Amino acid sequence: MSLNLILLGPPGAGKGTQAKLLIDRYGIPQISTGDMLRSAVKEGTPSGLRAQEFMLQGALVPDDLVIEIIRERLQAPDSVKGFILDGFPRTVAQADALGIMLASAGRGIDHVISLTVDNEELLQRVIGRLTCKGCGRGYHKLFDPPAQDGVCNYCSAELFQREDDKEETMRARLDTYQVQTAPLIGYYEAKGLLRSINGLGSIQEISDALIAVLEG
Ligand code: AMP
Repeated sequence: MSLNLILLGPPGAGKGTQAKLLIDRYGIPQISTGDMLRSAVKEGTPSGLRAQEFMLQGALVPDDLVIEIIRERLQAPDSVKGFILDGFPRTVAQADALGIMLASAGRGIDHVISLTVDNEELLQRVIGRLTCKGCGRGYHKLFDPPAQDGVCNYCSAELFQREDDKEETMRARLDTYQVQTAPLIGYYEAKGLLRSINGLGSIQEISDALIAVLEG
């Protein structure tokens, strides 16, 4: 039995947070194109250099680039028992490519979970987000502040705001989501794979609702 899962939702909906909780429960990897692209940018690889300008504008990176990243990633042996796609697919072309890629390997998508949160809440969540430069732990200026301003509670390294979490870029990312990614809700609904979960609530409440869908 495998569990091939897509988490769908706008930036800040909690896809990454929920994916991390599912890793432990099901022993399957989180595959985040955003994380992979950010490391490519940091390492200065050709893909990273190409992706960077789009990311800084809150636009999507070209389909061919992310599709290739996913094609390679899904060949790694750790995804045979399943995977949690977080932030991919984000366009109909990506969803089509994923479908073909999986079918040719005799695999398929089991569930697509859409996390819904309204735009004002998303903006609040994302523009307050902080990350530790040392250990990568996440914080929030209002909802989960560090004990000392700008400093990680665990490793004392400096906290930073993701460049694309600044308000103006986040507004652009929300527009991009509406235009290019929201059509995937109908796309997967038509395939009978979509389930929606209210993304407002505590991390635990949302995780419980997600698990109820997966195991119910
Ligand atoms: P995320 O961390 O998922 O919010 O992704 C950060 C940024 O990476 C996005 O705003 C896009 O510029 C880019 N990105 C991540 N995943 C994709 C994707 N599937 N297709 C195109 N661009 C992506």
